[in-house]
Amino acid sequence: MIMELCEVVCPSCFEPFEVTAPDIGDSIFPIEFDYDCEICCRPMMIVFDSLNETEVSATARGLGE
Ligand SMILES: [Zn+2]
Repeated sequence: MIMELCEVVCPSCFEPFEVTAPDIGDSIFPIEFDYDCEICCRPMMIVFDSLNETEVSATARGLGE
């Protein structure tokens, strides 16, 4: 099991921060998470998707989009 950190940029304050990616071995992508920004605490959605068998990408978007 590999815990991977993915950098995302908050859609509200545009500050980057890191989130822990879900385990790629037993996850079905894409996965959406509700998340509160670690800097401005506004809610967002983080979408994890698999790039290949070992890498996960994360994208953050605002709830209103
Ligand atoms: Zn923020």
